[in-house]
Amino acid sequence: MTVTSHNPADPTDLVVSVQAPGAAAVRAVVERARAAQRGWLAAGAAARSAALTRAAEAIEAHADELADLVVREVGKPPAEARGEVARTAAIWRYYAQAPYGPSGATHETAAGEGLLLTRRRPHGVAGLITPWNFPLAIPVWKAAPALAMGNAVVLKPAPEATACALRLAELAGLPADVLTVVPGGAEEGDALISGADVVSFTGSTAVGQAVIRTTTARGVPVQAEMGGLNAALVLPDADIEQAAGQLAYAIAGYAGQKCTATSRVIAVGAAHQPLREALAKALTALAEPSALAAVCGPVISSAARERLTAAIDSALAAGATVLAGGGVPEGAGWFIEPTLLADVPAGHPLRTEEFFGPVAVLLSAADLDEAVELANDTRHSLATSVHTRDLDTALAAADRLDAGMIRVNAPSSGVDFHLPFGGAKAAGYGSREQGRAALDFYTAERTVTLLPAGGAR
Ligand code: NAD
Repeated sequence: MTVTSHNPADPTDLVVSVQAPGAAAVRAVVERARAAQRGWLAAGAAARSAALTRAAEAIEAHADELADLVVREVGKPPAEARGEVARTAAIWRYYAQAPYGPSGATHETAAGEGLLLTRRRPHGVAGLITPWNFPLAIPVWKAAPALAMGNAVVLKPAPEATACALRLAELAGLPADVLTVVPGGAEEGDALISGADVVSFTGSTAVGQAVIRTTTARGVPVQAEMGGLNAALVLPDADIEQAAGQLAYAIAGYAGQKCTATSRVIAVGAAHQPLREALAKALTALAEPSALAAVCGPVISSAARERLTAAIDSALAAGATVLAGGGVPEGAGWFIEPTLLADVPAGHPLRTEEFFGPVAVLLSAADLDEAVELANDTRHSLATSVHTRDLDTALAAADRLDAGMIRVNAPSSGVDFHLPFGGAKAAGYGSREQGRAALDFYTAERTVTLLPAGGAR
């Protein structure tokens, strides 16, 4: 199989074309990584820390080139692409400190004599499977903690983001076989999760569930971050103009192609009418050609755009009303107008499935209770935003919402890489990514009992 990626803003622009290596070659890469891992761990904390710091420096030194590649390969608007590059360097730097951190604790023995130690050790080879939508940040927020803790890494990126992943590994400049990128699709991904000692997946729910089944059957630690169907709750006391601006960005920023993008807006009570008007206006403004390119950008493929337009058409046929967008602009790229629909009936796929595009439905709720019930009415509970001036309301909502991440007066999309990241219910499986949680995930804890030689038996 040949892996290709095309520029979503100009599909005639072929970004990369490489041969996928096939399953046997992936197994060989895993074995080489396993051999290299021993030396990587033995090199010690200072060497690993320095290597991760150099990886950060290389990203910073090539920031413009990388941002251009992200724009070209996955259609990310330039400002967001530059932000992702900066964040990627920051993630390398953050985890560059981790090798110096504690790797365990000491305890008293129950009997009094001797000493108990806990010690965290790397698993071996971390198999990472990543999506295309954050082609630098997601691979690095998995690879950096895995490497910091002494694992070797084999990364299988999404085909659509192959060039970004290959350049990332090249710039990292780690010792041979410590960080390897294998291009490819399902065959290479499956071979990787069948051989790796720990697996971290980010992508769609359907693929994630298959990855979980394979790895749990092997008894290998796995985490999977999957699709979201994210809600925003707007209370009557919210700053409606601010909320509308944030929601427009959460719906249409990078064409809604973030797992944390908002796709359901729930207006509570008297918020409904002013929000409906303000949000429709804000999204309509983003359909202007310059804003469409600067904020929204194209979707990843013509198939993705067709799926979105078919969903909009079927909602309209079922009685929905277009409040903003709904159309496809002229031109070559895979653009679609940021779209807001009202009156989408319960049970319609736009209310139950992730479509991964700049399309949202507007719903109304009589009060906070009903809004929470609507927000929780999904298996894909990743991120929810709550817009209110009242702290009690915000805290009450945060207590009762199922989502893995709750953001108050902020768009649902947005991540702080030093805190645990992940979804609830079908949106996430296994321990959290990022922050210190990631260091635990990429290590196994051992208990060591030390008794004095020649002491009581
Ligand atoms: P995808 O599920 O199609 O692909 C993800 C990765 O899995 C790719 O590398 C793909 O090649 C690989 N893959 C496909 N079949 C496989 C198999 N049988 N075995 C092993 N690997 C296999 O997802 P995508 O289209 O690349 O990304 C978009 C999806 O990712 C959306 O659903 C989005 O919500 C999700 N996502 C989730 C998060 C999160 O943290 N929750 C973050 C970003 C994206």
